[in-house]
Amino acid sequence: MNTFLPFSKPTIDEATIASVADTLRSGWITSGPKVAEFEKQLSEYFGGRPVRTFNSGTCTMEIALRIAGIGPGDEVITTPISWVATANVILEVGATPVFADIDPVTRNIDLDRVEAAITPRTRAIIPVYLAGRPLDMDRLYAIATKHKLRVIEDAAQAIGSTWHGKPIGSFGDFVSFSFQANKNITTSEGGALVLNNAAEAALAEKYRLQGVTRSGWDGIDVDVLGGKYNMTDIAAAIGLGQFAHLNAITAHRRKLAKHYFATLGKDFEAQTGAQLPPADFESTNWHLFQIVLPDTITRPDFMAKMKEHNIGIGYHYAPIHLFKLYRDMGFKEGMFPIAEHVGRQIVSLPMFYAMNEADVERTCAAMREVLGMERSLS
Ligand SMILES: *Cc1c(COP(=O)(O)O)cnc(C)c1O
Repeated sequence: MNTFLPFSKPTIDEATIASVADTLRSGWITSGPKVAEFEKQLSEYFGGRPVRTFNSGTCTMEIALRIAGIGPGDEVITTPISWVATANVILEVGATPVFADIDPVTRNIDLDRVEAAITPRTRAIIPVYLAGRPLDMDRLYAIATKHKLRVIEDAAQAIGSTWHGKPIGSFGDFVSFSFQANKNITTSEGGALVLNNAAEAALAEKYRLQGVTRSGWDGIDVDVLGGKYNMTDIAAAIGLGQFAHLNAITAHRRKLAKHYFATLGKDFEAQTGAQLPPADFESTNWHLFQIVLPDTITRPDFMAKMKEHNIGIGYHYAPIHLFKLYRDMGFKEGMFPIAEHVGRQIVSLPMFYAMNEADVERTCAAMREVLGMERSLS
């Protein structure tokens, strides 16, 4: 019998494990030299823009909103199809989330609908790069500039993705990454924010450590309300070990994605009614390989049947506006029909660095059976 193939799994090499052990033995296990080195390497990768690390992608976005001065009375436009963190951070700073429906092809926020959702109170947009797929970045920033909006890019899934050859994070406004365990590179838990200038970076340092500034008359002072969001050197040691493999990880995922398309064949959509993602091997880092199931099978049924074939299927994501917290604020079914359909039928196929082409083939064979393609082929 085949061994179980999960939808995602981190790969940590021996050099990284040794570096974590060194850190543990060094006597300095909280934020220190490893964090400084990780931030330096990330900054170089992002073209010299300032980078600060945190203990989650969620607090990274919250801190960006605080630096931008967004709070009560302000509206922030985002997508209903993301991890709930994306909208929760808007509530966390006291601002109002405004959802705009998605594009059914890219499954990212639809920029026409973003423009339509702008009001005099709109202060920012939080676009999400679902599965690592960037938006039309030129158009996004044209809209932001025209309406004087800040952009907090939820690039949690997009490290290694590019736009016209430039890494996501190397341009734009605030760009937030996550290093949670399933992301393309991990620190077990963690995040990083790319900022615009030294003043924003100094504010980020304050917000991540109790608002402490080193400039007070006594060498220390507190002038803003910060929290406790710093990354540890243990996490940064993992991050440095992972970051060394970023290009190889992205290349391997693109190769696996290509193999999914080749193995499923060009008639897969017509034969099954399922929808594949856009076949892009240039800009997307293929954080996820997601298909939207035909209405003839429910997502739980598909997931259970794939599990019988020993294949793990992920679910990213349930529409945020239909969670109770958001329904209680007045959001309801029918408001964002594309997101609701995609959110009901979307599944993530196995996709991770340690996977090989035989795993892709096994997944495709099981999928053919579960979606009844065998019959239509004969
Ligand atoms: C992972 C993720 C987050 C949250 O990041 P954490 O590091 O888990 O806090 C937010 N948005 C998206 C799109 C994500 O994939």
